[in-house]
Amino acid sequence: MNTKYIFVTGGVVSSLGKGIISASIGKLLQARGYKVTIQKFDPYINIDPGTLNPYEHGECYVTVDGMETDLDLGHYERFTGIHTTRNNSITTGRIYKTVIDRERHGDYLGKTIQVVPHITDEIKRRMLREDEKGENLDFVITEVGGTIGDIESAPFMEAIRQLRWQLGRDAVCVHLTYVPYLKAAEELKTKPTQHSVKELQGMGIQPDILVLRTERHLDDAVRMKVASFCNVDLECVVQSEDMPSIYQVPVSMQRQGLDAAIMRKIGIPVGETPSMKSWHDFLDKQSNATREVHIGLVGKYDLQDAYKSIRESLNLAGIYNDVKVKLHFINSEDITPENVAKKLEGMAGAVICPGFGHRGIEGKITAIQYTRTHDIPTFGICLGMQMMVIEFARHVLGLADAHSTEMNPDTQHPVIDLMEEQKNITGMGGTMRLGAYDCALQEGSKARSIYGKALIQERHRHRYEFNNTYLDDFEKNGMQCVGRNPEGNLVEVVEQPDKKWFIGTQFHPEYASTVLHPHPLFMDFIKASITM
Ligand code: GLN
Repeated sequence: MNTKYIFVTGGVVSSLGKGIISASIGKLLQARGYKVTIQKFDPYINIDPGTLNPYEHGECYVTVDGMETDLDLGHYERFTGIHTTRNNSITTGRIYKTVIDRERHGDYLGKTIQVVPHITDEIKRRMLREDEKGENLDFVITEVGGTIGDIESAPFMEAIRQLRWQLGRDAVCVHLTYVPYLKAAEELKTKPTQHSVKELQGMGIQPDILVLRTERHLDDAVRMKVASFCNVDLECVVQSEDMPSIYQVPVSMQRQGLDAAIMRKIGIPVGETPSMKSWHDFLDKQSNATREVHIGLVGKYDLQDAYKSIRESLNLAGIYNDVKVKLHFINSEDITPENVAKKLEGMAGAVICPGFGHRGIEGKITAIQYTRTHDIPTFGICLGMQMMVIEFARHVLGLADAHSTEMNPDTQHPVIDLMEEQKNITGMGGTMRLGAYDCALQEGSKARSIYGKALIQERHRHRYEFNNTYLDDFEKNGMQCVGRNPEGNLVEVVEQPDKKWFIGTQFHPEYASTVLHPHPLFMDFIKASITM
């Protein structure tokens, strides 16, 4: 079968969950035995979201090959278990950069470079994944960020229009809209959907399938109305009601025949509906897990999306441990030695979050001192691990001004220091130590027994590292450096064996948790927290 292309666009408002719908479509087609990939095209001008503040854009998700990407790629990977790469996350900035570099190189000598056709051609090339020949994909699902009608997404819409024309039945357009409920009128309103579809049609795109986001159940009359006003078959109008869990969305979409509708549009036999047994087993476990375990998330971003993958990893690990993880965001900027006991009260475990810069650092250190001395399970991730190291240096090794040179370049004791290969780097974008690296785990360590193997690969996103000059001091006093990168000898995992669960990782294990394969570190951390 030649590759089929599914385009997912959104209308009316943002934050409808296009990423979840795209991931669900991917999951359902994968369950039918197809080889799929899901990619995201974002209309902003940054080359990647790596330099964006999480308040702007939520978490930055890192692929195995070291691209800093949109958090929707996290959903794609968690739902399907399929790794994405740098070619699954494209921005307007990258498109323009490629075209402008080519222009400077002289590839278009004599020609005027224009949005149409040069920018749209480059978008099409990427949508078709022409740099990735040989993937033998059955389906490429392309989600376009933003909302229909945005000026900046117009070239992407034009590329989709052209591709649909060119690909015929091999391309399908799924449009996600919103059906609001007006309380005063006690009515569900389809007009915004009609307008949104008109807008799409005005760009020459007729959606094949409409997914209506709604907080209330839509009856057939509403769906029929939408179908007839928008020129879409009734069976191709599905609803996406608010669900207690995003992981129920694929099942709801399957029940309504979203995948079957896509296949019919394309003209491939629908066949039997896959049972998705392991997914259903997971959902059963999720609904049976009622006992609560309270975990504190110590970080500085009071925003759901900022620590998306960490939150999902903890939730998933909870479900597989038959408990419901209740996450409590604890703003590290507000933590003081006086209130730390109160802030952490009732927490069965604490995660010290990743991050950059000064803000909230001392609060993280104070929180770690508390959890360490009270033997509360503690999981430090990236900056969190670095803060574990600093806390230990200050309060156990007696190096009072120990710090990371990121926060204090003049510290007497730079226990966390800039990596050698980072020293001459001046640019900010895409220049960190990014992506998956090997890590060898020490025989007899807790990390090694948790992973059950000696060599692991995990993803990174940092510039600073443990300063090996202090290694002996740490190890003699109870903090072991049990994971190392075999090439550079960089410390990737620290642990305190005398504690119940006290592990810090320089890497980000949260990027590797998936629905069907929760991450062993998160699993073990929750297990330890339950038995507190
Ligand atoms: N700021 C730290 C560094 O660059 C940690 C980064 C992170 O937590 N992702 O090394």
